[in-house]
Amino acid sequence: MNKKRISIFGATGSIGQNTLDLIARDRQSYEVVVLTAGSNIDLLVKAALEFEPQAVVAATNDQFQELKTALSDTQIEVSTGRKALLESASRKCDLAFSAIVGAAGLEPGLIALENGADLALANKESMVAAGTLVKRKAIENNSSLIPVDSEHSAIFQALKGENVNTIERVILTASGGAFRDWTLDEIAQATPEQASTHPNWNMGQRITIDSASMFNKALEVIEAKELFSLSTEQIEVLVHPQSYVHAIVGFCDGGMMAHIGPPDMRHAIGYALSYPNRRTLPLEKLDFAKIGSLTFMEPDKERFPAIGLAYEVMSLGGISGAVFNAAKETALDGFLSKQIGFLEMCPIVEKTIVKLCHKENSHKLEASLINILDIDEMARSVAAELIRTYRS
Ligand code: NDP
Ligand code: MG
Repeated sequence: MNKKRISIFGATGSIGQNTLDLIARDRQSYEVVVLTAGSNIDLLVKAALEFEPQAVVAATNDQFQELKTALSDTQIEVSTGRKALLESASRKCDLAFSAIVGAAGLEPGLIALENGADLALANKESMVAAGTLVKRKAIENNSSLIPVDSEHSAIFQALKGENVNTIERVILTASGGAFRDWTLDEIAQATPEQASTHPNWNMGQRITIDSASMFNKALEVIEAKELFSLSTEQIEVLVHPQSYVHAIVGFCDGGMMAHIGPPDMRHAIGYALSYPNRRTLPLEKLDFAKIGSLTFMEPDKERFPAIGLAYEVMSLGGISGAVFNAAKETALDGFLSKQIGFLEMCPIVEKTIVKLCHKENSHKLEASLINILDIDEMARSVAAELIRTYRS
């Protein structure tokens, strides 16, 4: 049996490391082609020595010598910098994991699709900023988009064998994040350290803070609309503190398919790795008698206004997803560097949208990569300026 050739963009992150954990348990099924990092050279070298890929890339430019020296006893090709990262995405593989955080993950994913790879899509920012473009690239190259975000993997699995025209609604669940039970006053004082702890999931820092603000769910609502071609009205969000039900799909006959599993990303990653087949995974077996009850509630719009913004973005359409994502990334940087408070992120994103997106013009621009990158840059500079002036 031929091994499936896998490239991982963002191999040193939480998704990347979980992917390697699964590959390590089934070495006869997979061959690693490319591993990329941002700046974590130690982890990249460790993974390179263990998995012996054809090539490794660190996106930061100044680490070439360090990486080269560490891998000098191997045949592995070494390069650094953004250009090298993009070039590595054109190397032939069967499945590319898009696991870089932020809009920086968009281009490697598009290039992998252009080169005929299927795309295991953890990088939700790609779908939010450029859903139309990503889908078009997949169709043009006859490639599959396999969601890795747990909710979207859940929907994808529930839809297997179903006619998408029979979907009535889709419910995305949310844990509620670190501040689910905090008051508005307490949330206003939250520090980056407090926001970086997740009650159920173990993830990278940025998505963990996005879970605390529910910007993560806001991104996921848009991601779901794009991935499954849903209308805005078909998508709902419920807070489900136990995080066992990942999503529910309701069909026109009243039947509902819920995807249930432990809060462990290795399920969705493993499903994408072996898709279209299933394989045994090293996950905890749920004991429903012990769990006892599963609870669901409406998200609190006052304490977590980000989800409301996602619905505005979906009704605006066009460039607004790219603006939303870039402004959110910039606001998060502002919070992490303590320039703004936790509750100031949302108004900054909203003001950036108001400034750049107008119903009458946001559809006019063709969804080309150049347009999206320009809009991303513009939104970052507007949001950064708002951060600078926010308190004055
Ligand atoms: P992490 O922060 O843990 O990892 C991010 C990865 O991207 C690292 O390999 C990092 O490199 C690399 N990276 C960061 N910035 C750049 C850049 N500018 N250029 C190239 N590489 C870069 O993130 P996660 O693994 O948590 O998340 C990855 C993606 O998956 C995100 O889009 C997230 O929303 C999504 N996702 C994550 C889930 C999770 O459980 N973690 C669940 C669902 C979706 P380095 O560390 O070497 O600097
Ligand atoms: Mg998710």
